Amino acid sequence: MNPPKVKKEIVLPERLSVKQLSELLRISPVGAIKVLMRNGVMASINQVIDYESAAKVASDVGYEPRPQVEQAKEVHRHTLPEEDAQDLSPRPPVVTILGHVDHGKTTILDAIRQSNIVDTEAGAITQRIGAYQVEVQGQKITFIDTPGHEAFTEMRSRGAQATDIAALVVAADDGVMPQTIEAINHARAAGVPIVVAINKIDKPNANPERVKQQLADQGLVVEGWGGEVVAVLISAKKGEGIAELLENLLIVAELEELKANPNRSAIGVVIEAKLDSTRGPMATLLVQTGTLRPGDTFVAGNTWGRVKAMFDDMGHRLRKAGPAMPIEIMGLNTMPQAGDILTVVANEKEARALIEKQQKEQKAKTATLLDFSSQIREGQVKMLNLVLKADVQGSIEPLRSSLEQLENEQVKVRIIHAGSGTITGSDVMLAIASGGIIIGFNTHPEAGAKRLADAEGIEIRYYDIIYKLLEDMEKALTGLLEPVFVEVIEGRGEVRAVFDVKGSRIGGVYVSDGKVSRGALARVLRNGQAIHESRISSLRHYKENVTEMSAGFECGVGIEGFIALQVGDVIEVYRKERR
Ligand code: GDP
Repeated sequence: MNPPKVKKEIVLPERLSVKQLSELLRISPVGAIKVLMRNGVMASINQVIDYESAAKVASDVGYEPRPQVEQAKEVHRHTLPEEDAQDLSPRPPVVTILGHVDHGKTTILDAIRQSNIVDTEAGAITQRIGAYQVEVQGQKITFIDTPGHEAFTEMRSRGAQATDIAALVVAADDGVMPQTIEAINHARAAGVPIVVAINKIDKPNANPERVKQQLADQGLVVEGWGGEVVAVLISAKKGEGIAELLENLLIVAELEELKANPNRSAIGVVIEAKLDSTRGPMATLLVQTGTLRPGDTFVAGNTWGRVKAMFDDMGHRLRKAGPAMPIEIMGLNTMPQAGDILTVVANEKEARALIEKQQKEQKAKTATLLDFSSQIREGQVKMLNLVLKADVQGSIEPLRSSLEQLENEQVKVRIIHAGSGTITGSDVMLAIASGGIIIGFNTHPEAGAKRLADAEGIEIRYYDIIYKLLEDMEKALTGLLEPVFVEVIEGRGEVRAVFDVKGSRIGGVYVSDGKVSRGALARVLRNGQAIHESRISSLRHYKENVTEMSAGFECGVGIEGFIALQVGDVIEVYRKERR
């Protein structure tokens, strides 16, 4: 058990026992006690010590300690209406399965479903919808059947938090991979508890202990390793450990005290939608609160409808659906999108009014560093959420720690995700869902990601010099960031003749580059020196007033407030662009 030679980052909780610390650092408890003694802390093996003391031991044996970030709960969870406590009843938990590709998400979803199908029903599955419910020891659990953190965060980015618990799958033979880390960060940003399923333990090269160590490196410390995160060993392929996984999901759910009011008009979230050739637009819906019934009029995102029929995940027709129930509904006017919120309203008029109101609210949303800076100045925000992407893995840690050091008493910096490579759609969705901005260090966005960011008003800031990045962030965090304008040259022209017309001087100009347009910002250059700055006040082509002239043409140009134009002067036309 040797500590690593290069400084390796280790995430430590606020409090832990000496034994737990020694396990995390992979040193003997006696070794940990000795280092503590050298630092003036007398502690026995089971004694609980604080972060500062633990961090000293960690750096002493060659680690780079970092405090575990508290999970910010309910970051952007779309707010369901407040209810009186007496109206609330317990409801089933909703679980999403996250993890790296090929680690077994789909196999687990199948195994869970198989484990729950009563024989007589086995042949009755006529359709599969985007979510299903199982019953374990008389209690229900709802699973969203579109696994993966992209779908999970896409829904959150649209304002819907459907998931209560994230089941994180890690293959025991493959270990923690980039998408595992992404999944952890997405679940954390959403503030949902994580239950770990270490899968494929049937494989000969399965190494669950290594997975636990790797998870601890990510600050996800499992039970038995000094943490509280539940980890279950399973083989989805053989159906082993599935019952235990379900039991543990119920235990975690119980701690969450999930409740909803079944006796109100329904609110839900669209999990997926498809167009059925005979039945029209169909949506898989998760009812979040209230009870939905056939005949109810509703709004779902930008569309609305009236429930014509509802079905459960087995295709049975339903007369009603309460909280956490996944159903398929028929009766939408057009297709909604995954993540759209469904709200029951009184009638069509109310439906149209609600759609209009929601569209207005949507338009007003942007997230730029400038917005943050002014909100910070006004004391409106306390947290700056960042998604950090860098070209190489090696740049991430220095960037992360420098950025985290910038936080001050008023504002915290939270790096919700950091990774290497290009900026992806999943990064943008995470930023949307958490109201954050994206930093690209020596990297660029994929085309789809750029389009999404533009459409949603999410800023991507690009840097290639660390001090410039830190300077901007520091300004933003103290509310001092000002917009930066850069000059973009639009065109140039040479003055080849001058005419005096009604008290003003007009230049006969040959446009040599770009274009010259009326009203544009312009400066006059003489022998390379700017001698006047104003605007193009008039622009003519022969006798015609024109709005712009391109390179290769001659035109008559008047410069606002300038009557000293001479042959040989150069007119430079530019615009200012906010960077
Ligand atoms: P996903 O991409 O996370 O949805 O992964 P899949 O569920 O598609 O599984 C990827 C591959 O791993 C498939 O070939 C599965 O058969 C296999 N697999 C899944 N679970 C297990 C398991 O418990 N043991 C073994 N040996 N293979 C598994």
